[in-house]
Amino acid sequence: MIITRFAPSPTGDLHIGSARTALFCWLWAKNQRGKFILRIEDTDRERSTQAAVDVILEGLAWLGLSWDEGPIYQTQRFARYQEICESLLAKGQAYKCYCSKERLEALRAEQEAAKEKPRYDGHCRNGHEVVPHAPFVVRFKTPQTGSVVFDDSVRGRIEIQNSELDDLILVRSDGTPTYNFTVVVDDADMGITHVLRGDDHINNTPRQIHILQALGAPIPEYGHMPMLLGPDGKKLSKRSGAVSVLQYREEGILPDALVNYLVRLGWSHGDKEIFSREEMIALFNVHNINVAAAAINPEKLLWLNQHYLKTTPEAEVAKLLAWHLEKRGFDLSQGPDLKEIVLAQRERCKTLVEIADKSQFLYQNINIEESLLQKHFTSEVRPALQAMGQRLMQLNNWTAANIHEVMAAIVTEFDIKFGLIAQPMRIALTGGTVSPPVDVTLALLGKEKSLQRLHYAIGLANSL
Ligand code: GLU
Repeated sequence: MIITRFAPSPTGDLHIGSARTALFCWLWAKNQRGKFILRIEDTDRERSTQAAVDVILEGLAWLGLSWDEGPIYQTQRFARYQEICESLLAKGQAYKCYCSKERLEALRAEQEAAKEKPRYDGHCRNGHEVVPHAPFVVRFKTPQTGSVVFDDSVRGRIEIQNSELDDLILVRSDGTPTYNFTVVVDDADMGITHVLRGDDHINNTPRQIHILQALGAPIPEYGHMPMLLGPDGKKLSKRSGAVSVLQYREEGILPDALVNYLVRLGWSHGDKEIFSREEMIALFNVHNINVAAAAINPEKLLWLNQHYLKTTPEAEVAKLLAWHLEKRGFDLSQGPDLKEIVLAQRERCKTLVEIADKSQFLYQNINIEESLLQKHFTSEVRPALQAMGQRLMQLNNWTAANIHEVMAAIVTEFDIKFGLIAQPMRIALTGGTVSPPVDVTLALLGKEKSLQRLHYAIGLANSL
């Protein structure tokens, strides 16, 4: 069985680059009917926060990337790291290093002066007298000859000479384990078969392979993905617009749209752009992740968002819309069925925020500008509007179709153009000149509020 893991460090936002890593790990596990583990790499206690953990959990849940196991917190596994460290020491695969900070600094300065790559020189590697109570770190005994070779599923074969690597620290003098050590212990214990991560970790891989070999653990298949770039092809930054997953939610993006967008950043299947989750799962393969870095494309995201807004069952969109409306403090029980709002608005909107903006009139009192009254409530249309109010009052079954019939009858009776009457009604109901068809708008707003607003606007116009 294949097992993948997403292993974020909870030190900030859930960035879309990380979300893409999570998605690819999730997809590969699903594709192979394997398991996807969520591991929180929180050993850096200074930088890790509960808020960042919450953002990760919330972001993944919102994207629908559910994990089969976890979250497993590294800070809860210190005893295990300690145990493995001791066994490596006992087997002579690791050693205690007593080198002082001063010695290491001097060594570094010397190497820099000689234009050499700074590295530990192995001073304590071959035994050092045990200094009772003196601080020490535990270093891994990296093989000094030969090389490490691995077949990266994205980048192909990679070979690193062992002479390039020094003896890395496994456990610091305060007893805390280092990143490379905890990752290896966890990957081994959790039986990880595929590690997909950003290529900023590529230099760690040979070191991790060495430690895994020392533990006698199988070596996972590694795949290092290129970073995402901004739309300008440069490094992705906050200035490139939203880069955090929850920020996209704030902006009214649908999780399905973001997932579809992310899957195409660095992976493709012919020139297919729209993938349902089932299709993604069926077609995804770690071996055709692109080696070239992908640039984000905000316009494409909006295009996808509009697609999903239009094609997702309205009940599902309604649930997502509820989040936006509630955030604005609206009492949803005072408004129409959200599914009806979605059906009325989605054709003309690109985001849920846009739908929420254009639906505020259903929950809030409105203002009508005097200039709109002057322009649209002319003496020519006012009698027809008056009659409309009366006729609608008698309408019992308040549906868009029935409302439309009433409107059509009035238009014929008063021999007036439909638009001439529809526009002032729209203004009366919403305060603005853009809305779904006016019969639909009346249906959404409900009989009581609609009539109240219509009479109020006619009254205002009469008093001008
Ligand atoms: N915790 C690491 C990070 O957030 C990822 C480690 C890994 O995937 O091996 O960059």
